[in-house]
Amino acid sequence: MIDVAVIGCGIVGAAAAYELSRYELSVAVLERENDVSMGATKANSAIIHAGYDPEPGTLMARLNIEGAGLAKELCEKLDVPHKQCGALVVAFSGEEIAGLERLLRNGVQNGVPGIRILPKDQALAMEPGLSGEVAAALYAPTAMIVSPWEYALALAETAVRNGADLRLECAVTGIDKIAGGYGLRTVRGPVEARTVINAAGLYADTIHDMAAEPAFTVLPSRGEYCLLDKSEGTRVSHVIFQCPAETGKGVLVAPTVHGNLIAGPSSESLRDRADLSVTAEKLEFVMRTAKKAVPGIDFRANIRNFAGNRAKSGHGDFIIAEAKGAPGFIDLAGIASPGLSAAPAIARMAVGLLGESGLALREKRDFYGTRGRVRFRELTSGEKAALVRRDPAYGRVICRCETVTEGEIRDALLTPVPPRSVDGVKRRCGAGMGRCQGGFCGPRVLEILAGHYHCKPSEIVQDGAGTWILASETKGGAGPAI
Ligand SMILES: Cc1cc2nc3c(=O)[nH]c(=O)nc-3n(C[C@H](O)[C@H](O)[C@H](O)COP(=O)(O)OP(=O)(O)OC[C@H]3O[C@@H](n4cnc5c(N)ncnc54)[C@H](O)[C@@H]3O)c2cc1C
Repeated sequence: MIDVAVIGCGIVGAAAAYELSRYELSVAVLERENDVSMGATKANSAIIHAGYDPEPGTLMARLNIEGAGLAKELCEKLDVPHKQCGALVVAFSGEEIAGLERLLRNGVQNGVPGIRILPKDQALAMEPGLSGEVAAALYAPTAMIVSPWEYALALAETAVRNGADLRLECAVTGIDKIAGGYGLRTVRGPVEARTVINAAGLYADTIHDMAAEPAFTVLPSRGEYCLLDKSEGTRVSHVIFQCPAETGKGVLVAPTVHGNLIAGPSSESLRDRADLSVTAEKLEFVMRTAKKAVPGIDFRANIRNFAGNRAKSGHGDFIIAEAKGAPGFIDLAGIASPGLSAAPAIARMAVGLLGESGLALREKRDFYGTRGRVRFRELTSGEKAALVRRDPAYGRVICRCETVTEGEIRDALLTPVPPRSVDGVKRRCGAGMGRCQGGFCGPRVLEILAGHYHCKPSEIVQDGAGTWILASETKGGAGPAI
């Protein structure tokens, strides 16, 4: 019997695994998909929020502030792309300025450093791309942009390096109470664990109900986005929010750490938690609303649209607690925004709760806490030449838009959590993230993956299970038979 089973490996499960791997514990992470970060963690606004939005006194407020501080430290140690660019919340009317004052009061109470309201001229001087109609702006200098999937990968890889057992394509289908813990049924066989962390995102209620009486329901809410080419990447240098509405923080415009511009999200309650469609209607809403704050955005430079589903719970706060009647079973549920920002603090709290429930927490002496990787395009000419001399694989450019080399893809395949799909390679080293969205490099990446895994090209998927790229004539093998 292992000490802890973590169910789900989005940012919350990955942070929990990372935190647990600091202690002398046996830990398994059970993830339904073929990669880490396949749920809300890969489809969000990618902001580490400063922390003025949540109501003071809530878990969201406390863990947002604590998590944002930890996120900065972790991103530095684990080589995760991030930038503290600051955020501006813009107001267009006297009524909206009153909204900014409310956010300022929240921010001060929550302990957000350096937060203040700027008059129109200062806001425009700081961010010349803003509309001349802006009346004032709330400035939060500690807001940060991050690569959310690289953040989750870095935490998961570090956990695995420190002994955690990550099992992908391992959906949990049932949970039984057994002597001394829980018997988890998975599609890859049983797992027995003394304690369980439920980090299943949109399915946290389903997992909870397997072990305890129903206590909450996840209410999905979809957000749709426009991602723009790097030609628009310098349109703004801060995260630009508008005064929040009932439905959430509203549509933002922000630079991304990869040099693009992002606009979104919309907000729409859903019945089907798996529905990630994008709609002409919501994208039009996103474009119209974004242009209200930043009129110069050229949406003809849109290179991709995507949607993410928020896992709201109706409780108005994160649910981080031992499930009633299920000792040692910790729910991390209702982790909607600011879940990405709060994740490491959520993980610390969860591990604390396991400690309170009797799990012995002895810190490891030999914890590996750093990580790094080659980013060829960020090197100087001299460094590039030296690297290629040492290893010619870095001289073969696979993704021309993003200048990603074969050496970097090979490095990704040798990490503790290697990619299994073409998009898995994209998330780790950026091949396919550029203007052509993998049109040129996709086939080469597919060949490299097939070569690495000694399988047929038709067995390689674009992303999740079943997203075949090539049709195969073989019957009974992987891929659809034709
Ligand atoms: C549109 C949108 C915008 C957002 N913007 C921000 C932002 O800018 N800043 C911020 O702080 N937060 C933001 N958030 C919130 C943030 O993305 C989430 O809080 C965070 O990603 C939640 O992480 P998670 O690990 O709980 O869930 P997920 O990332 O969804 O991970 C849950 C995992 O559990 C797995 N799983 C489910 N069922 C099972 C099972 N039966 N067995 C095994 N595994 C299972 C899933 O496959 C998945 O990988 C946003 C969210 C959305 C949707």
